[in-house]
Amino acid sequence: MRILIVGAGIAGLATRRALVRRGFTVKLIERNPSAGLGGAGLFLPGNGVRALCDLGLREGLLRLSHPVNAQRFHDETGRLLVEVDTNDYWRDVAPCRAIRRSDLWQLLNEDMDPDAIEFRQIVDVSTGGNGCRVNFNDGCAEEYDLVIGADGVHSAVRGLVFPQPVDPQYVGNVCWRFIVPNTCDVDEWSVMLGADRSLLAKPISKTELYIYADMSVDQARTGDYSHETPLLPLFAGIAGPLLPALQLSSEAVVHFGELVRLRLDTWYRNRVALVGDAAHASPPSMAQGACLAIEDGFVLAEELATAPSIEIALHRYQARQKVRADWVHKQCAARDTMRRLPPAVRNTLLRFAGGAIYRRSYGLLKKPV
Ligand SMILES: Cc1cc2nc3c(=O)[nH]c(=O)nc-3n(C[C@H](O)[C@H](O)[C@H](O)COP(=O)(O)OP(=O)(O)OC[C@H]3O[C@@H](n4cnc5c(N)ncnc54)[C@H](O)[C@@H]3O)c2cc1C
Repeated sequence: MRILIVGAGIAGLATRRALVRRGFTVKLIERNPSAGLGGAGLFLPGNGVRALCDLGLREGLLRLSHPVNAQRFHDETGRLLVEVDTNDYWRDVAPCRAIRRSDLWQLLNEDMDPDAIEFRQIVDVSTGGNGCRVNFNDGCAEEYDLVIGADGVHSAVRGLVFPQPVDPQYVGNVCWRFIVPNTCDVDEWSVMLGADRSLLAKPISKTELYIYADMSVDQARTGDYSHETPLLPLFAGIAGPLLPALQLSSEAVVHFGELVRLRLDTWYRNRVALVGDAAHASPPSMAQGACLAIEDGFVLAEELATAPSIEIALHRYQARQKVRADWVHKQCAARDTMRRLPPAVRNTLLRFAGGAIYRRSYGLLKKPV
């Protein structure tokens, strides 16, 4: 079977790895020669760690990542509202970890041919019942049995192949992310919840802290913010013990973005399938985008290896993973709604029911893929 994967982000690399482990030969193309370098940190709840273990990466993951034993939710004064024992909750699945995005990128490349990523782009894809014809920006045209769009939330593959254009929807928050030395001795995943903003820290190594900050902003005003926005005036009021880390933000490489979600009714058309953010981007409230992207790759490869036809494999892949992605979208919306409640109401809810809400929100994702 001739397979082309477009995009060497988390989804593309996970999918290639899963397919190669099943004996498929895959071509992987990427438009950005620096694709492996970008990004800050990622929290991987147990289902994401399980998916990486399923791809044979347990040892490497334990070496490159940092444990997340608990998640602590605080109010704007730094008072602890609820602490979730993640080791206990995810015990039957896999432990939670935190990792640099660039380390996860390297990890997914482990044992793969380092020259196997081709840096080129598609300009057109036509697909019928028997395959795909792909035109590239270097003038070449090639035939494939299957094209996999792993090219992120603004997927070119999706735009070229799916009849109805679907645009990502802004969910009302902008965010900043950076990594700094851990000068505030935060030892576990910790979030400070303000009225319209939050500040989150998690150690990604023994000495480094990954910081994520977000704030509600009307769509018309998002242009007022960027990676250069001074963060101290915006977040010092809720920083509590994270203040020393926030003070280092002016010296850090800061990533800025608008948070979006993308919902599609179908993830494949003829012989073209979508994986990762190209199919189901979600805001990071559940920390599931990378986790689901890795699961997608594993499940798609499993179905392609076992189903009687490509069509049936794609159908089964979507049936297995879409229910999980839809669940994540729903839980993200519920979390975002709760965060927007008046702080007194939200804090009371979290103090008395935060543990139960957390456990329920991840329930479906603990089930095997
Ligand atoms: C603020 C924030 C925090 C997050 N935190 C977490 C977290 O803690 N845990 C978690 O699990 N998830 C998290 N996520 C989600 C996660 O980062 C994404 O879901 C995940 O990286 C998606 O991977 P992807 O490979 O689908 O897309 P991408 O990472 O966008 O990769 C797509 C790749 O395709 C390439 N590409 C694009 N167009 C083309 C083209 N035309 N031709 C060739 N190549 C192309 C791009 O250069 C890129 O390399 C977070 C997301 C955000 C925004």
